[in-house]
Amino acid sequence: MTRRYDLHTHSRLSDGILAPAELVAHARTRQVDVLALTDHDVTDGLAEAAAAAAACGLTFVPGVEISVTWGNQTVHIIGLRVDATAPDLQHGLARLRATRLERAREIDRRLQKKRITGALEGAQALCHGATLSRTHFARFLIQTGHAPDLRRAFRQFLSHGAPAYVPVQWAGLEQAVGWIGGAGGQAALAHPARYKLSPGKLRSLIGEFKDCGGAALEVISGTHSAEENRRFAALALRFDLRASVGSDYHGPEKPWVEVGRLPPLPAGCVPVWQDWKE
Ligand code: AMP
Ligand code: MN
Ligand code: MN
Ligand code: MN
Repeated sequence: MTRRYDLHTHSRLSDGILAPAELVAHARTRQVDVLALTDHDVTDGLAEAAAAAAACGLTFVPGVEISVTWGNQTVHIIGLRVDATAPDLQHGLARLRATRLERAREIDRRLQKKRITGALEGAQALCHGATLSRTHFARFLIQTGHAPDLRRAFRQFLSHGAPAYVPVQWAGLEQAVGWIGGAGGQAALAHPARYKLSPGKLRSLIGEFKDCGGAALEVISGTHSAEENRRFAALALRFDLRASVGSDYHGPEKPWVEVGRLPPLPAGCVPVWQDWKE
């Protein structure tokens, strides 16, 4: 029997909804065999998830999703099978979280100009870990009646071009891939169809990622269309990268994404787990 993999999920330690143990229990009900927790810029949920997975016989992969600035674009790099005790990784992630706090103060100032007060405290009250995300601001805006749902909270206030969008310098691409390698892990370029890049720029990004030691492309993503999945399968082959699969599950708040609800890898792809000994 083929095993069901989901190598990209979030818990409430970053911008997901479920506690790590709840996420593992949910993945179990969804017949997932191998699960990675990949919270944004933090590894604090991994121990709880690993213990819950061991208790129910699910194979757990310790992961992280690192915020990176490439050119003037934010891209996300997934680290899989990372040793969370690696010092360079932890120092790097701590710096990114400090940047997030500075950004949050500026988001708060910009929302105040729109006569929305208490946003920083409100977002922090909804945050259960060390990673303060725009998603926490979006939830605050919904809670206080300033937006009807997440999509519109982002579009009206938080996305690029909106009044409370604050540009940030995240980690460098080579730096993030280096932290993951230094932690014994494999780097995967997350949801490659989500970036607003021309086909040529996207190939440059993938080429540079590969040159810095990147291992895999997230060919199958819960945020990709079927056509996008096929397109990135072809690009993985062309760049001799392995293929990863991940839902990018954040919780029941985004019902269009579900843990383990992913099509199989197209023929010819080499799965990122090819050499894993579990
Ligand atoms: P941050 O890393 O704090 O800048 O926040 C980025 C996160 O916000 C992503 O990981 C998504 O979970 C979420 N996000 C970004 N854009 C949207 C959107 N348009 N609708 C809903 N969630 C979004
Ligand atoms: Mn997120
Ligand atoms: Mn992402
Ligand atoms: Mn994600």
